Amino acid sequence: MPSPKLPSAFEARMKAFLGAEEYLDFKASLEKEPMTSIRLNPFKVAPKLNTLQLVPWSQWGYFLEERPSFTLDPLFHAGSYYVQEASSMFLEYIMEYIQAPKDGLFLDLAAAPGGKSTLLSSYLNQEGFLVANEVIKARATILKENIIKWGLGNTLVSNNDPEHFSGLEGFFDLVMVDAPCSGEGMFRKDINARSEWSEDHVLLCAQRQERIMDKAGSLVKGGGYLIYSTCTFNEKENEDILSFICSEFAYEPIRIPIDPTWGIVETKTVIEGNPYFGYRFYPHKVNGEGFFITVLKRPEDGFSQEAPKTKDFKHPHIRLESRSIEKQLIAKLGLPENSCIYSVNGSYFRMNDNFKSHFEYLCRFLNLKYFGVELGKFSKDQFLPTHEWAQSIFPKNDFPHFELNEKEALDYLRKEDIQPQGLPEGWVLLTYRKSPLGWIKNLGNRTNNYYPKEWRIRLK
Ligand code: SAM
Repeated sequence: MPSPKLPSAFEARMKAFLGAEEYLDFKASLEKEPMTSIRLNPFKVAPKLNTLQLVPWSQWGYFLEERPSFTLDPLFHAGSYYVQEASSMFLEYIMEYIQAPKDGLFLDLAAAPGGKSTLLSSYLNQEGFLVANEVIKARATILKENIIKWGLGNTLVSNNDPEHFSGLEGFFDLVMVDAPCSGEGMFRKDINARSEWSEDHVLLCAQRQERIMDKAGSLVKGGGYLIYSTCTFNEKENEDILSFICSEFAYEPIRIPIDPTWGIVETKTVIEGNPYFGYRFYPHKVNGEGFFITVLKRPEDGFSQEAPKTKDFKHPHIRLESRSIEKQLIAKLGLPENSCIYSVNGSYFRMNDNFKSHFEYLCRFLNLKYFGVELGKFSKDQFLPTHEWAQSIFPKNDFPHFELNEKEALDYLRKEDIQPQGLPEGWVLLTYRKSPLGWIKNLGNRTNNYYPKEWRIRLK
């Protein structure tokens, strides 16, 4: 089927921007098949890859020779990798270059479905903490699922409008805003984006981006970083927003050194006599989709605030557990020593205790969807483990592990009744290629499949 035509106003603008000759290459690239790429989870078992073509600016990103059925790969559900468009993985290169503190507190303000958040979560590993926020409730649910599958336990998922972050000025070491945009860079991958585009929509997006950045710009602490990105080409949503940020807040430019063979185009915007840099990804120049990203640094003396130390944490739903419960769970579940334990409705959650006061302060402002790792609860003397814990990278040594073959793994993920040969009795952690998929309870004559109903795969 022929693709819908490109909007004529878009064509005219791109022609003027790129020049008539280059525009032809750009237009031709939009008719080619987009490349499929995945980014591996550094802390989980890697899938077997037929290709060794690395995304040039990423240590964990790979191009695939063809797009497989991810739904039918158990490792996809195990959180071993995230399907992410290659241009977006440039964030990893930026992180390695700027060396934002690995033990820092980061915010991803427009986070669903979780591409940038899972990347930042990997960067922070067990030292830092990430707030992954999404304003649209249904999308925040998807974000939560992806964060649980990624499994590092270093993230809080919230469902808030950027305005709700008022009071958290100067609080974060890094704020990422991958803004909602007119999506011109998706004209190849998502054909519908072409018919949804209009000049009015570009203006509307730019106004919304200004509103978001007016808040986001204030949340970074002195010496911290602000990263802004879109998947669109027009200047109104890119360089003009960069100028807007710098007109509202003091930010220093950051220039990222790029290898000229990568095909990334650096742009320069002069603001009050200083050059500021942006990085543009065009599909006729890079192996990836359209993308724009810019990095700014807050001056060292910028306003900063620390989380106040709370003596008495009070929250309508979340309870800080006593030191003795904490000790008991650390010993019983084999959790790291730096764990602190909260509970919600009797179910225990594990957090890194370095971020205790930050977490407790954030609870005052945010509508939490998830945080740390939900472990489970006691029922009489038995510990009932959660699926969230199964998918996390934390040990589950108290329970027998049982390895499934691919067919059994897919049947389990379809939430079918399975009773593989040799399954031990009681609660068992099922794995596929040593990657935890979830729990099953073997009652002898039958088994209970504890894979979450809403995540089950429906494809045969
Ligand atoms: N960062 C995500 C990733 O890498 O997977 C993609 C983010 S997407 C480009 C932009 C997100 O901004 C969407 O999830 C959208 O729901 C959210 N959004 C929409 N309106 C918003 C607003 N006014 N403030 C903040 N976020 C908004």
